[in-house]
Amino acid sequence: MKGRALLDTEQLCATIRTVPDFPKPGIQFRDITTLLADPAALHSSVALMAEQARASGATVIAGMEARGFIFGAAVAIQAGLGFVPIRKPGKLPVQTIGVDYQLEYGTDRLEVDPEAIAPGSRVALVDDLIATGGTALAAAELVGKAGGEVAAALFVVDLSDLGGADRLRAADILVHTLLAFEGE
Ligand code: AMP
Repeated sequence: MKGRALLDTEQLCATIRTVPDFPKPGIQFRDITTLLADPAALHSSVALMAEQARASGATVIAGMEARGFIFGAAVAIQAGLGFVPIRKPGKLPVQTIGVDYQLEYGTDRLEVDPEAIAPGSRVALVDDLIATGGTALAAAELVGKAGGEVAAALFVVDLSDLGGADRLRAADILVHTLLAFEGE
């Protein structure tokens, strides 16, 4: 793997499949499963995010369920760090701490095992995509509640028109995204 050439932004972008009107009319679903199936794209995206995680001084990687688990665990291995899953409610077998957050319709909740985040940990959050930033802001709040500090938030895809990355930056979070797409 070492020394393998990395794909450039245009090549990486071309591996993302866009599915119109999924899961509902008007949404352009940016499907990362086609990137995952491409060995060079998977390697490149993980290597780039691992470098960003290392540069941020992260001491642990945390990924948001579910697609953040795929990239987050791979980034953790590449960066030589451990991985913490940030889960949907009721999945962890221990006493959790949680944060509720607003969706377009209704609310959702993220939970973590507080013992998985040592006091003073510098956490790099990893997810496949940032849209409004609601999920990532809730995850960042959860990291703080657990006694850690967010070192960076890393995403493969940024839906930049939705402003999520800007919302995170306004909250003083270092944000890196590999690819930007227009629209919802
Ligand atoms: P948000 O909380 O609005 O930043 O939404 C981020 C989460 O929703 C990520 O975990 C994405 O996997 C998912 N998501 C939102 N919009 C899209 C989209 N257009 N295509 C694919 N995934 C999306």
